[in-house]
Amino acid sequence: MKARVLVIEDNEQNLYLITFILEHHGYQVIQARDGKAGIQIAKETRPDLILLDIQLPEMDGYAVATLLREDSDFDHVPVIAVTSYAMVGDREKAIEAGCTGYLEKPINPDTVASELEKYLAAAGKRRI
Ligand code: MN
Repeated sequence: MKARVLVIEDNEQNLYLITFILEHHGYQVIQARDGKAGIQIAKETRPDLILLDIQLPEMDGYAVATLLREDSDFDHVPVIAVTSYAMVGDREKAIEAGCTGYLEKPINPDTVASELEKYLAAAGKRRI
């Protein structure tokens, strides 16, 4: 079974690009466009990994990560923050909020799949 990645991202262009890259690498992608929807969809679909944009409207990525970590159903689900390169403090804040790791924007299409693969392997999940 393909690994399922929930992408929580409010920017349509970024969402399209990340979805395209991950599907190309054999992942099944589930999309959410804001934090509240992301949490609800995560509970409904139980993804293998969550890719979480930090800059989201209303509820930011830190709040989403904090809420996900309060739910033991997600104890073994890697939550990877997508942070802006310019925002130096974002990475530390993301880890403090419960994120497993982070990727910097812009997403590198050549390495994002292998990066996620590492987190999935560490969580005991195979990609396909
Ligand atoms: Mn955003």
